[in-house]
Amino acid sequence: MRSLRIFVSILILTIPVLLYAEDRPSPTTYDLQVSIEPVAGTIAVHGTVDVPSSVATAAILKFNLHETMEITKLLIDGKSATFAYAPLEGSFPLPATRGVVVNLPAASAQRMIHMEIAYQGPLMALPEFGASPDMRRSMDDQINSRMVELAFYSSWFPQFAFGLPVKSELTLSLPQKWISICSGKRTEDTIAAGRAITHWSSAKDVDIVILASPDYKLTQLQESGVPVEIYDTQLPEPFIRQDGEQIASVLKLYTAKLGETNVPNGVVRHVYSPKRKGQGRAGFARPGLIVTSEGRTLEGLASDPNFSLFQGVAHEIAHYWWNFGAGQGDWINEAFAEYFSTIAVENLNSESALSAVMADYRKQVSALPPDAPSVSNVQMTDQSSFVIRYYKGSLMLNAIRHAMGDEKFFQACHEFFETYRGKPAGTEEFRSFWKSKLDQAGLIDPWLDSRGGLPPAVNEHAAQR
Ligand SMILES: [Zn+2]
Repeated sequence: MRSLRIFVSILILTIPVLLYAEDRPSPTTYDLQVSIEPVAGTIAVHGTVDVPSSVATAAILKFNLHETMEITKLLIDGKSATFAYAPLEGSFPLPATRGVVVNLPAASAQRMIHMEIAYQGPLMALPEFGASPDMRRSMDDQINSRMVELAFYSSWFPQFAFGLPVKSELTLSLPQKWISICSGKRTEDTIAAGRAITHWSSAKDVDIVILASPDYKLTQLQESGVPVEIYDTQLPEPFIRQDGEQIASVLKLYTAKLGETNVPNGVVRHVYSPKRKGQGRAGFARPGLIVTSEGRTLEGLASDPNFSLFQGVAHEIAHYWWNFGAGQGDWINEAFAEYFSTIAVENLNSESALSAVMADYRKQVSALPPDAPSVSNVQMTDQSSFVIRYYKGSLMLNAIRHAMGDEKFFQACHEFFETYRGKPAGTEEFRSFWKSKLDQAGLIDPWLDSRGGLPPAVNEHAAQR
């Protein structure tokens, strides 16, 4: 499982394709009409994309799109534009993606480039994560007669970079009786000519997610004032109820520590997508949404009736706040999400459960080879990247918390979140922010820059905690 977990961590990340010059980048804005034929496994999309002109270079606009999609129309600022397909650039594992290189018709001083586009084709059927040893050719996104799952990983929509702000309006057409859950909030739900038509609006996001199945059941819960919607096809009712209670308490805990974040419509939706395998732990999170493999959950329940996704779900909910680390700085998202999941364990589970979790992190970090990359250098594709980014990162935050005391630490976390939300941040932003907060500013560099396991200077100190 370790290798799967490590690889899978690569997926739940941001990629550094582009950084904007502006302080807070304008969102890339999508207005898409999407029609899906589950049995045929095909998708047809048309609509508009408005993208900041800072994304283009020298009259060229590049984006990623699913390899088997045929573009049938492409206009830029109302004029037809020539384009060519190109290999995917970058190291991010997008197994079914190719580049599209568009020649911009004329230099334009406008801040946003307006693209009209139409494309269609079959979605490639690749094995789910964990269903094949070839992880680089695995993908959870799929369209078939059982289910639809579409997110960033298949590049089903023209994509420029992950982790940067995305705004979307989406009209989705599926066969009647299919139930869908998409990014943002649903503003329309009708049946027309034997099709289920829904409209979704998402104002602050990083992705456009489409989940659908004819078998989804909805459980609506209102635990301590937090509305939670859980979608599944075959999970036991007590498990669903416990999941809803956990989500509500974790959300309340984080809100108390960090302030409000963006949860579209104020509802948390946890979707158990009826995959058999798929990305590890609790899956992936987007604003207000958690997507978990129902198959893996059923496997967990079969081997342990008390199986719970508590810490994994707490990690995913923490990403509602921790989602601004960009590029190499994606470790910031994972270290904070992981560390806050331990705070959920500490507050809602027990101190002893917490010590077990932290002891495991220390054991795994201590076992890193001496030449393992430092936190300030680690790339998502590095060996041991999961242990370095999630666990060494968490131990560093734990050391900072003990040095500052709880009150100051959580105030500073709130301030760090407010300072960088919606604005890409990297290791150096982290370093200067936290140095300015600490009396012992010398604590930070060894944690960030030491290769291998625990930094020597704090080794003994940290071992006591
Ligand atoms: Zn994460």
